[in-house]
Amino acid sequence: MNTRYIFVTGGVTSSLGKGIIAASLAKLLQARGLSVTIQKLDPYINIDPDTLNPYEHGECYVTDDGAVTDLDLGHYERFLSVPTSQANNVTTGRIYQNVINKERRGDYLGKTVQIIPHITDEIKRNIVALGNTKKFDVVITEIGGTVGDIESLPYVEAVRQLKWELGRDCACIHLTYVPYVAAAHELKTKPTQHSVKHLLQNGVQPDILVLRTEHKLDEGVKKKVALFCNVSKDSVIECMDAPTIYEVPLMMHEQQLDVVVMQHLGLPVDGEPVLDRWMSFLGKFKNPKKVVKIALVGKYVELPDAYKSILESFVHAGAANEVKVDVHLIQSEHVTKENVAEKLQDMKGILVAPGFGDRGIEGKILSVQYARENNIPFFGICLGMQCAVIEFARNVLGYEDAHSAEINPRSTHKVVDIMEDQKNITGMGHTMRLGAYPCEIKAGSLAEKIYGSNLISERHRHRYEFNNDFLAEYEQNGMVASGVNPDTKLVEIVEIPSHRFFIAGQFHPELKSTVVNPHKLFVAFVAAASAYDDETK
Ligand code: GLN
Repeated sequence: MNTRYIFVTGGVTSSLGKGIIAASLAKLLQARGLSVTIQKLDPYINIDPDTLNPYEHGECYVTDDGAVTDLDLGHYERFLSVPTSQANNVTTGRIYQNVINKERRGDYLGKTVQIIPHITDEIKRNIVALGNTKKFDVVITEIGGTVGDIESLPYVEAVRQLKWELGRDCACIHLTYVPYVAAAHELKTKPTQHSVKHLLQNGVQPDILVLRTEHKLDEGVKKKVALFCNVSKDSVIECMDAPTIYEVPLMMHEQQLDVVVMQHLGLPVDGEPVLDRWMSFLGKFKNPKKVVKIALVGKYVELPDAYKSILESFVHAGAANEVKVDVHLIQSEHVTKENVAEKLQDMKGILVAPGFGDRGIEGKILSVQYARENNIPFFGICLGMQCAVIEFARNVLGYEDAHSAEINPRSTHKVVDIMEDQKNITGMGHTMRLGAYPCEIKAGSLAEKIYGSNLISERHRHRYEFNNDFLAEYEQNGMVASGVNPDTKLVEIVEIPSHRFFIAGQFHPELKSTVVNPHKLFVAFVAAASAYDDETK
């Protein structure tokens, strides 16, 4: 069958959740037997979000092939359990870079290089390329930003052209907002009408409208929107706020979004989507047997999007354990020797978060120490593992000035250090150890028990590594390297066998946790926290 293309644009305002709508529709189509992928086109000039700080953009999501991408790709993978790649996230910066590289190579010799057709052709090439892999029946492309933004214009123009070229093989979904004006007791459709007019001015007639709203839309409202926007009433889909993003596929199915889309694309609709595992997750998620308090120690507490994948992994692992994980975000900058006990004593598990730079690092190291000395389940991720290594060096091996070369390059015990091949790198974008690497797991370790395997693959995004010069000393004193890269011998997992649960990884397991495949490390950590909770009741 021909690959079908679905475009998702947004109007009225940002933050309406285009990514969740795209992921929910994709889930429903997948549950009806289609192979689906989702792509995000981001209208900013950065080549990728690698150099953006979390305040700008939330978490950076990393794919197996080492692409640093928008956090929406995390939703795509969590919903679909299908890995994404660089092809799933393209920015304006990358589009221009490709076009300019071609120009310098002489590909356009004699021609003036312009937005139309050269930039729009490059955008179209990136969309169609995903379909050409023949791996997918449906490609859903989410256009970042809001219709009417200057930055989005070339993308909307590319959609216009593709709509024309693809004919029935493509559908346009426009997501808008219907505000409720309390003084008038009325839902207002005017912003939606205007945003569709904007699209029409750019030559794009949306086929389906999804209306975000905080109040139910009556038939009159839907009829009015249909009339003013040239879509059939069935194609006006209501999308109320949901208690959890994982309910949105069900809400969209209730509204028949999947059916309307498939009919529009000329795809046969028979039966119902098969969502058994999804429903079983939701059932457990909504009926937890108890609450388990877990501390997430990091420096971006006021910005939960910085830890998006970790928070979602706790949702998945909580459901797998039939408990609700109550995550307490602890500002590591405020953790001191004097108050660490007060802040952490009620916690049944302590996770030290990934991060960069020295802000809040001593609070993270103190949190590891508290978990280690008080036998509280501990889980360290990336910088969290490096903190565990530093803490052990300082308080067990007795190297008071032990540190990471990132934070204190003058330390005489750089237990976390930069690798030779990273030393001469001066640029900041895409220069870390990125993407999936294999990891060999030691027989008899906690890691082996958790993974049930001796060879795993996990995703990385960091520059510094455990310093193997100290490995023997660590192992003689009770911290073992239970996961090692088979090619480079870099330490990927450390654990303390005498502790009830103390494990840390140099990689980011949170990037691989999905609704139907919760990550084993998170599931085991939550199970350990839950058992510790029972014990301390
Ligand atoms: N800053 C550390 C490094 O670059 C850890 C990075 C992270 O936690 N993602 O190695």
